[in-house]
Amino acid sequence: MKVGFIGVGNMGGPMCRNIIRNTNHEVVVFDLDAGAAKACTDLGASAGTSVADVAARCDVVITSLPIPRIVEAVALGPDGIAAHARAGTVFIDLSTNSPATAKRVAAGMAEKGIAMLEAPVSGGTVRAKDGTIVIMVGGDAAVFEQQLPLLKSFSAEVIHLGEIGFGSTAKLINNMLAFCNSAAAAEALMIGKRAGIDLRKLDAVIRNASGMSTGYANMANKALAGRFEATFALDLAHKDLRLALEMADELGVPGLIAPQVMSLMRMARGMGLGSADSCSMIRVYETALNEEVRA
Ligand code: NAD
Repeated sequence: MKVGFIGVGNMGGPMCRNIIRNTNHEVVVFDLDAGAAKACTDLGASAGTSVADVAARCDVVITSLPIPRIVEAVALGPDGIAAHARAGTVFIDLSTNSPATAKRVAAGMAEKGIAMLEAPVSGGTVRAKDGTIVIMVGGDAAVFEQQLPLLKSFSAEVIHLGEIGFGSTAKLINNMLAFCNSAAAAEALMIGKRAGIDLRKLDAVIRNASGMSTGYANMANKALAGRFEATFALDLAHKDLRLALEMADELGVPGLIAPQVMSLMRMARGMGLGSADSCSMIRVYETALNEEVRA
């Protein structure tokens, strides 16, 4: 089978390379960043010249793109996948999107006889490299079963949530929770710093105690080391939380905690940290208190 992969950045790159390593599929990649595409062609993928070229050549087209507007343009735009793929092609979007966008894109694809799975992922770049991410899928059950071996080739867990929209719903809920944990971790570390406790020992306690979470571990790993280069950009985290808050509003669920985290992200972006890692949220506290959490 020919598999197209469009968007081989921080997440798409390692996922694409795992497909190349773990399957016999012929993989065709395209990314606006030539260096990102090269990291996949070096491993045996062939280079697509455009989105349209990949769409026309492949049986399955996968995308991992930053924001809903770009996903929609790549999927349904005049130079996009729906316009150039054959009927019968399967489109799998691994990006984090809103349920409404996923439904709109799926409807546009269906008009061209293209089935779509929305398949957002969680686990970050480390688990993307290890092939141990979780994939949460929305879409037709038969298409899901057919694509399961491909999805399993670059993940540890694949969960079918139901119809299109539920994959994004699960992903946005998960990320809202993770960002709340991460923001609370930033506050916790700052309190520890001010208290004068040995931060490495505090960290060892938390990792073995009830305060532990993936959000905590991510924040502590980056903040204690002072490493804020993006593996998951703040701009993308802000996009995810905005989509989660929109969903909560639409459903009439009053947000109390997540909007506070949104304010923290807005302040960090206002400080020019949008392209830094999402854990640079802690820089808001550090700047306000003129003290850094490093150990
Ligand atoms: P990224 O910015 O590192 O990668 C996106 C890639 O898409 C880039 O290489 C970019 O050049 C390419 N691109 C953008 N527009 C394009 C276009 N029109 N045509 C072709 N290529 C194009 O972002 P990422 O961190 O890999 O995130 C990708 C998606 O995965 C996002 O939706 C994000 O929310 C989600 N996600 C990220 C993480 C993470 O830890 N980084 C974890 C889970 C989910």
